[in-house]
Amino acid sequence: MKTTRRMSRRDFFQTIMLGGLASLLPFKGKGLAETVTDDPKEIPVQFRTLGKTGLKVSSIGFGAMITSDPTVIHHAIDLGINYIDTAASYMDGNNEIIVGNVLKTRRKETFIATKLKLRSEAEMMESAEKSLKKLQTDVIDIIQLHGLNSKAKVLNEEAMNAFDKMRKKGMVRFVGFSTHDNQAECLLTAIEAKFYDMVLVAFNFTSDPVIGEAITKAGEAGIGIVAMKTQAGGYQGKDLGNWSPHQAALRWVLKNPHVSTTIPSMTSFAQVDENFGAMKSAYGFKDEKILQCYVNLYNEELCRMCGSCRNMCTFGLPIQDINRCLMYAEGYRNFDLALQTYKGISKKSPLTACTDCQACQIKCKYHLNIPERLNRARQLFGSITV
Ligand code: SF4
Ligand code: SF4
Repeated sequence: MKTTRRMSRRDFFQTIMLGGLASLLPFKGKGLAETVTDDPKEIPVQFRTLGKTGLKVSSIGFGAMITSDPTVIHHAIDLGINYIDTAASYMDGNNEIIVGNVLKTRRKETFIATKLKLRSEAEMMESAEKSLKKLQTDVIDIIQLHGLNSKAKVLNEEAMNAFDKMRKKGMVRFVGFSTHDNQAECLLTAIEAKFYDMVLVAFNFTSDPVIGEAITKAGEAGIGIVAMKTQAGGYQGKDLGNWSPHQAALRWVLKNPHVSTTIPSMTSFAQVDENFGAMKSAYGFKDEKILQCYVNLYNEELCRMCGSCRNMCTFGLPIQDINRCLMYAEGYRNFDLALQTYKGISKKSPLTACTDCQACQIKCKYHLNIPERLNRARQLFGSITV
């Protein structure tokens, strides 16, 4: 284990008093301790119960969405991470194959969650059958409808019928859905539906408070909550000194006792070790300061997923989803994912619609410069034909 000089809480307070947090930032390579250097094998795994499913899941799970190296997943399981999230559509269908190649020898140590698109009952059954084969398992622990954004979709009877059939046939154990947009309404509808065991929700330290409140209500109703997009884009490049926001971001999410696990995307051993290290302690003062710095530095990039701009565009452009594509490309630096997501959006709402507008009608609740962001999105994705 690397040795690092740790700053006591008292020292830290004194430093803040003397010069403010910004004065700490230039001291790269020394100064405040880097928590990421701890040996993960020395950190006990925290488990939480996923709502009424009763599954005891590690509070740090594994988002496999863009993981192409199976040894990274094996490493996470070796450490004690037991919740793996994938989807039928990730990597054009290949992600489930990669995860399946791991599960064939590690199935008893893991809970597997995958997703399918809301389609006809027959198509959803077929998708689940394919997922079972690719994942090399007899049963999927959790199956989720992928990316719901309305009350009508959450209450879709065809999906409920398909899920009921899957459960009766022993193909799946528990059912849920994921949501990125209009999340509060989707969560509250899940309570009303009394059907879903869990919901996967985009939740992080920049989230609009209404999302946290809906999570709490859903959690109190026994719905298991899994958090994604926990890193608020994971933007890099501006000076955070030798501080990493990743553990702080995960601890912030886990402050909400109704969040059972988190699924940060991981593609390297170093990312696994760093994220795993978030279980070492509870959210604290230093975490708060790191996240404040991050928000100050990247404020103009951070869509809070509040949904306030929903339906504002006269041409129906989904502004929050376009912001998500920008976040994938510029924050997480995953252009393939950004492109894949954009293609899904642009089928219905091409960005070229903006050229017919005299002036943009969108007013962002958090003062993001929407015309400027749409311009960037056009530059990145505009030439894509679907
Ligand atoms: S400029 Fe684009 S985003 Fe703004 S209102 Fe017009 S079509 Fe919608
Ligand atoms: S663009 Fe602004 S108003 Fe729209 S969801 Fe994001 S933060 Fe909210």
